[in-house]
Amino acid sequence: MNATTQTWLNPYRGDLGVSLALETVDALKARHIPTHPANYEIWATYAAGTNPELNREIDRLIATGDTFTDEQNEILFEKFCSPSRLSWQVIHAGETAAQELTKASASIRKGSVETVAFSQSLHGAAELLETSADAEDVKRVASNIARETQDMASRSADLARALEESARQIDALQSELSTAKAQALTDSLTGLGNRRQFDQILRQRTESANAEQTALSLMLCDIDYFKQVNDRWGHSVGDQVLRYVAHVLSSHARIDWLVARYGGEEFAIIMPRTALGEAAEIANNLRLAIGSKALTRRSTQQNLGKITVSIGVASYEHGESCGDLFKRADANLYEAKGRGRNQTYCGEDPAASEATA
Ligand code: GH3
Ligand code: MG
Ligand code: MG
Repeated sequence: MNATTQTWLNPYRGDLGVSLALETVDALKARHIPTHPANYEIWATYAAGTNPELNREIDRLIATGDTFTDEQNEILFEKFCSPSRLSWQVIHAGETAAQELTKASASIRKGSVETVAFSQSLHGAAELLETSADAEDVKRVASNIARETQDMASRSADLARALEESARQIDALQSELSTAKAQALTDSLTGLGNRRQFDQILRQRTESANAEQTALSLMLCDIDYFKQVNDRWGHSVGDQVLRYVAHVLSSHARIDWLVARYGGEEFAIIMPRTALGEAAEIANNLRLAIGSKALTRRSTQQNLGKITVSIGVASYEHGESCGDLFKRADANLYEAKGRGRNQTYCGEDPAASEATA
């Protein structure tokens, strides 16, 4: 594919592209948004108007007077920009695979034309041998057959090599695609599932819970006073704390759980076939495990103190949407914060609430 065929770049070319870049920088400046490439991508896409859904979401945030915090920008990027990256990777891989297949089928067609010509030539030689008893003729025909057979063998070897090369290229594309797919569902800081994977799996698990009439619980976990960690120790220590919490959650995870980072300092666990009481107990143990360790700053060995989390747990009610389940777990998380943080709240079931006391 050459550059002139990439029409999606057109809004970014020439004078139009330059004025779009200036408009993007102005928008970032006016809203005090860090000029990180990810934020630039969000606002350049907004200025170009190529993703109407992104524009609607930003217009809605502007209309409701929301500020574009780091967290909000990250959510916008995850939701609208990284999927389009993936689709470009997919389109690119698809185009390369199509080119390889075209090459392979041309080689096969050429091979079959040559096979037909070879068989015609053998047929002609057989006819000649049938009608002529001349020793010179036999010698000439035999030597022609030997030469053509050798040519044919070498063309077949070329064809096999070309097909092998195509198969190798297609294999490489397949593995690139599965890496891209895995990356698109993974949070790069913690290695956990990201928001997209969380949304996908929550949808799938609610469908299975409905189909099999089994229990399903959702735990949402938010680090307490995390902003203070960043303010006091800096963003990279904040990142270290996020990795620590991710590690505790994932190291306790059962095989069928999904542990995800669905927001800045917000984690979720989807627990299939787990009723509310058991989920609340698990959640509370995770909370205690996270808060049990005094953390030290890796670079200086300074004591960072303990990190606590608040947790909301809810169980799925068959037939409801996954959004409703999420809302109830989130409301319980909010309740846990309101009740003083560093606790688990699971609302609806008093027996389960006792388990967390
Ligand atoms: P609360 O107890 O009410 O949850 O208070 P909080 O300070 O934890 O919550 P708040 O929402 O005020 O702050 C969350 C902070 O998380 C703000 C944001 O800068 C930070 N944050 C979000 N994503 C990241 C990240 O990837 N790395 C770091 N270091 N900080 C992040
Ligand atoms: Mg939060
Ligand atoms: Mg928090």
